[in-house]
Amino acid sequence: MKFISKELKSLNEKLKDSIEKAAEFHGDCPPGIPIGVYMVDYGLTLLGNYNKLKCVVETPRCIADAVQVMTPCKLGNPYFKLINYGKYALTLYDRESGKGVRVYLDAKKLKREKYPMLAAWFLRDKSPMGKPDKAKTTEEFITSAGRGILSYQRVKISLPQKDKLYPSKLCEICGESFISKGGDACAACEGGAYYRVME
Ligand SMILES: [Zn+2]
Repeated sequence: MKFISKELKSLNEKLKDSIEKAAEFHGDCPPGIPIGVYMVDYGLTLLGNYNKLKCVVETPRCIADAVQVMTPCKLGNPYFKLINYGKYALTLYDRESGKGVRVYLDAKKLKREKYPMLAAWFLRDKSPMGKPDKAKTTEEFITSAGRGILSYQRVKISLPQKDKLYPSKLCEICGESFISKGGDACAACEGGAYYRVME
């Protein structure tokens, strides 16, 4: 136990182990790590039996790391998809039936009176006291919130069954190869690159 304190007796071993692994992978244990672990655990429980698992994560933050540690869905394979809505939500689904469970952090359940630190952290309060303490917020989640601030929906996925195989082209501007969804120039040349080449 490197990241979470041993005093968290209420926590079952499987969850504890997943939190440790996800924190290790993430490099730290902010509240989003145990939240992500609980979301995946809850989602898998609700999903029940499945043939082949796929996951959509709606934010590139902590919860994405929990998914990668707890399931075979990884950023580098086709079973993990990021659709960035900026939401603390993820969907685990069977890629054969397309049926799944979407689990999300429910702001309506995140009552300030009940979970002051979590609420301040999640709603990004600018408190005069400064940022809420990360470790204490994590502990507040594990000891008093847990599944209590999560909600779920049963969903049918409307993504194509198989990812379309787009052709590789040479960019007409920079000459580098890229996967083209129709255009002749790469996204960096077309839409403005995140980098500038230094001479
Ligand atoms: Zn280009």
